[in-house]
Parts: sequence; C-alpha cells; structure tokens
Amino acid sequence: STNENQILSTDGLKKSFGGVMAVDGLDISIEPGELVGLIGPNGSGKTTTLNLITGFLSPSDGEISLDGKDITNKKPYEVSTLGVGRTFQISKPFGRLTVVENMMVPNVSVGPEERDERIWELLEELHLDHVAENRADELSGGQKKLLELARVLMLEPELILLDEPAAGVNPALMDEIIDDIKRINNRGTAILVIEHDMSVISALCERVIVMNAGRQVMSGTFEEVQADDQVREAYLGG
Ligand code: ADP
Repeated sequence: STNENQILSTDGLKKSFGGVMAVDGLDISIEPGELVGLIGPNGSGKTTTLNLITGFLSPSDGEISLDGKDITNKKPYEVSTLGVGRTFQISKPFGRLTVVENMMVPNVSVGPEERDERIWELLEELHLDHVAENRADELSGGQKKLLELARVLMLEPELILLDEPAAGVNPALMDEIIDDIKRINNRGTAILVIEHDMSVISALCERVIVMNAGRQVMSGTFEEVQADDQVREAYLGG
C-alpha cells in the first residue's frame, strides 16, 4: 500500500526475464532524507530494482510510488523530472565533451545565469572545478563518478539512486566520495545505494535493506544486518 510519508515505496514489485524472477514481490520503502544501502548477493535483483524504479524496465507486476503518487510504468525522463536521479556502476559521461559541457546536458528549468551558478557551485563542491575544461574521458574513474553525481544534482533530485559508487574508485578518493554523499544527504536528499564494499556501506548507511532472490529479507542497521543468520545464509548460499 502507498504511504505519503515515504518518498519511495514498492508494493509487490515483480520482474521476470523469461523464467527468471529477478524481482519477486519486493516491498521496500524509503523515507524522505534517508540514506539507505541495498545489498545482497550477485543476482539477487538489486540492479533490476533500480532499473524498475527509474523506468528503464517495466514491471511484470506490482506498483512503485514516489511521494505517494503512482509512478509505475513511467518513462525514465518522466521519473527523472519527478525528482529521481540515478548514477551507474560504469559511469558514462560524454567523453569528448568537457566536464563543464557535460554539466550543461541536463535540461534544467532555470535561466542560463542560474544554471551556470549551479554548475560552478557543484563543480567546486565536488572538487572538479580544476578539471572543468578537461575532456571527460581524461578523468580518473573516481572523478567520472563525481561528474556523474554532479550532473544528477543539476536537477535537484529528491531521491538519488547510486549504483556502486565505490567500484573502480581509487581508495584515496573513496573517503572523499563518502563525505560528498553524506553531505548531499544531510542537505535533505534521500539516497538509495547499491554497494558491494561493506566498509563503504557501514560508513555511509543508517539503514540497510538486504535482498535475496528478488525479495527483501531484512532491513536494519548495518550491525543488525551483519548479525543476522538469514543474511549470512543469503551470502553464503544457504
Ligand atoms: P544484482 O544486481 O543483485 O546482481 P540483477 O538485478 O542484475 O542482480 O539480476 C537478477 C537476476 O535477473 C539474475 O538472475 C540475472 O541473471 C537476471 N537478469 C537481469 N537482467 C536480465 C536481463 N536483461 N535478461 C535476462 N536476465 C536478466
């Protein structure tokens, strides 16, 4: 059932690919301003869930709501306009464009002056101002992730879905990215993050949702989740 106090909720969400139930009756919810981790073994349905929420895939069954409004079957651009931003495991900025040019890609609803102000604020905040005129394909893996995050923030989303922010990032930059994500969250943006690196999950998340076989098997603090037998079983294959 939908709840207007939740920024996001899924109700009986399902997605099958042929005979494979990638998501199999998923009920999760995120409150405004929460920073939640989504973990689970490979193939448990995490990426499919992100693709369903953002409209890249349409569900076989179930509902998705944003701020209590039904967004099931909305197109990706509609979901993004409604305030859901998303970054990918493999960042794909426009490599031949500069960092600044990449920041101009999102279709913001403000005038050019305000847009430029927003671009430079974000580039400074995410420590990309010194590479602003570099081509995006010259950036390091971590800088590409930061550029993707900065680009998503241009649209001032209420909810950001992060797909493996630590993957391919130099450990020296990882602490900075963790701080950036926390700071963005502290300003009121809810965040749902898929991440395999448990040290990143424990540093970031006040709550963790554990998936296995397309369902939520547990939700709790990192410590609670770590101590749970069902979770150990899911990771160790029962
Ligand atoms: P996770 O992100 O947790 O590793 P996925 O959502 O990628 O899990 O995958 C869940 C299941 O769905 C896996 O069994 C995977 O092989 C299957 N799957 C995902 N995407 C597709 C697809 N496009 N076509 C067929 N099977 C898919």
